[in-house]
Amino acid sequence: MARLGQLLREARETKGSSWRDIEAATGLWPEYVQALEREDYSRFASAGHARSALRLYARYLGLNVKEALAMWEGTVRGVERLPGEPEQGPSGRTYRAVVAALVISLGLAICAITALYGYRWVQSSGPGGALSGLSGPGDPARHPSPTPIPSPTPYQPISDTALPLYTITATIDYDDHSLAVQQRIDYANRSGETLSDITLNVFPNYDSEIFTLHGLSVEFGTGPTPTAHSLEGMTLHVPLPQELEAGQVATMFLEYTLDLPYIDPSDSFTTGSLGWSEHVVDVGHWYPALAPLLPDVGWYTFTYHPVGDPYVMEEADYDVRIWAPDDVTVVGSGEEEREGNLWRYRISEARSFAFAASDQYVSHAFDAGGMTVTSYYFPEHESAGLDVARLAAEALVTFGEEFGSPYPYTDYRVAETEFAGGMEFTGVSFLGALWYETYPGGVRSQLVALLVHEVSHQWWYGMVGNDQVMEPWLDEALATFSELIFYELRYPDDELWLWDFEVLNWPRGGPVDGSIYDFTDGSSYMNAVYRTGALLLADLRQAMGTQQFRQFLRDYCQSQSHALSTGADFYSILSRHADQDLSPLFGEYFARLPGEGAR
Ligand SMILES: [Zn+2]
Repeated sequence: MARLGQLLREARETKGSSWRDIEAATGLWPEYVQALEREDYSRFASAGHARSALRLYARYLGLNVKEALAMWEGTVRGVERLPGEPEQGPSGRTYRAVVAALVISLGLAICAITALYGYRWVQSSGPGGALSGLSGPGDPARHPSPTPIPSPTPYQPISDTALPLYTITATIDYDDHSLAVQQRIDYANRSGETLSDITLNVFPNYDSEIFTLHGLSVEFGTGPTPTAHSLEGMTLHVPLPQELEAGQVATMFLEYTLDLPYIDPSDSFTTGSLGWSEHVVDVGHWYPALAPLLPDVGWYTFTYHPVGDPYVMEEADYDVRIWAPDDVTVVGSGEEEREGNLWRYRISEARSFAFAASDQYVSHAFDAGGMTVTSYYFPEHESAGLDVARLAAEALVTFGEEFGSPYPYTDYRVAETEFAGGMEFTGVSFLGALWYETYPGGVRSQLVALLVHEVSHQWWYGMVGNDQVMEPWLDEALATFSELIFYELRYPDDELWLWDFEVLNWPRGGPVDGSIYDFTDGSSYMNAVYRTGALLLADLRQAMGTQQFRQFLRDYCQSQSHALSTGADFYSILSRHADQDLSPLFGEYFARLPGEGAR
C-alpha cells in the first residue's frame, strides 16, 4: 500500500505545483508541506496543527481528505510504536509525547538543523539535501524521497519602499485555547539609514506563560543566516547578521505558540483583548510587531502596564490565514475569504490585525453604501446584535462625512466578546457581552455609546495614529468627544443624555496629558484622559466656534492620516485654525503645553 507522504508527493508532481504555488493557495509554508511529504510530524506545533495542514494540503491536491486523514492517523500510530514507546491511541496528548520523544531522540541533529536553516526555501539538492538530516538513521519510514526537491522561486518579497508586510498563518486549537503561529515579516528599510538590528514589540509576552517563541530567522542579501535574538518582557531584539542598508529588504520568520489566558468578565484593557472566555477567544495584540522606528529615539519599546493600551503601532499590510475548527466562526480585520476551515484576511495600511473566534456566533450584515458592516453576537442577544450592525454603519458614514476622510476599507466587523469594555483594532472592534445583556434598546445605552466610541477609533487610532502609551489623550479624548459629535448630528434629542452619561456624571480628573504609567486604576485614567479630555475639546470648540473647530478636525485628520501624530502636531494645527491664543485653556487641563517640556 502506498504511504501517505508518497501519495502527497506524487499528487503534487502530477499537478506540477511549486512550493510557491502551494503557499499562495493554502498559506502552508514549504517546510510544512515538505514535512508532510516526509511524514515528519515533529516539525508541527501540535497534532491539530499537523492535521489541519494535511487537511488543507490534501484538499489542495484534490485527494480524498477523509482517506488522507485516516492514513495520517495510522502513520501516527505507527510512529508511536517506536522502540521504548508505549502503544497508545492517536490522541493529541499522546501525540505530543511522541513528538517530545522524537525531538529528544533526534536531539542535537534537529537543533543544529533548525538553528542553521530555520525556515527557508530548501536548496535544490535531492537526497542528502539540508532537511534530510531530520530523518534519523533508525527510521527508514521517514527517509526523504529520492525525488529532487524542485528549485524554489527566489524571494521577491516587497518593494524597497513598501510598508511592512505581515504574512501570518495561525492555527486555533479552540478547546485547548491555544494558537500555533508562523509569521513572516517583509521589512523594507525606509529609514534612510543603515540598520544593524531590528526590534519587535511582543505584546503577548507581558506574561511569560502566554508566548513561546520556537524559532526565528532572518533572510536577506546572500541568504538565510542563523540569527541570535533576545526576548525580555515585551521587547524582542534581533541583531542582524549583516547590516541592512537603506532601501534593502529583510525577511524575518517567526514560529511561536500562544497559550491564551482566561479572561474574567471584569477584565478590561490588555487583559480583555487577548485570551479565552466561555464562548469566545479574543485574539488582539497577539503577534510580534515591528517597533516604530522613530527619529532621535530609534526602535520604540516600552514596558507593560495594566491600565490603558500599552501599544504603539505603525501602519503595515497584512495577509493572515487562520485555520479554525468546523464549527468556529472567525471575525478578523479586512477582506475575508473563506474556504472550509481556512479563513483568510487581507488588509492594507492597517494599524493592527485582530480577530475573535467563537462556536456560538450568529451574524448580521448591514450594507452601508459600498461598505459591509457585520455584527457577530451570541444568539441570545439578537436585538442588540442587529442594532450594533445598523448603528455601526451609521457611525461609519457619519464620521466619514464629518471628519472629511471616508472609512478606507470595504468591511467593518464588531465581535461580541466577554470582557468589561471595548477594544479597537483596524477594521474590527471587540465589545463586551455585558453591554449586550443589559441593552435596553435605543441609543440611550452603554452599548451604543461604546460602539460609537469604538467606531470613531477607526479615525483616532486607525487612520491617525498616536503614541497610546505617552499621549493616550490624543485618541481617547477624541474618541469620547466623537460620541458627542455623533449624537449631535444623528440623535440631537439624546445628546445631553450622552454628555451626562459619558462625561459630566464622572469626577473631573487630570492632568489630561498623562501617560498610561501615571495611572494605577482604570477609572482615574478614564476620568482624566477620556472624560476630562473630552471636556477640554468641548471648551476648545466653544472658544474657537463650531465651524472653525470642525475645520481643524478635518485638517488634523487629513494631514495626520497614516502617521503617528503627536500632541505638538495637534496643537500646531489647532493654532492655525484658531483666532485666539488657546494656551491658557490648555493650561487648565494639561501639565504642560503640547510639544513643550515640563513646566
Ligand atoms: Zn477608546
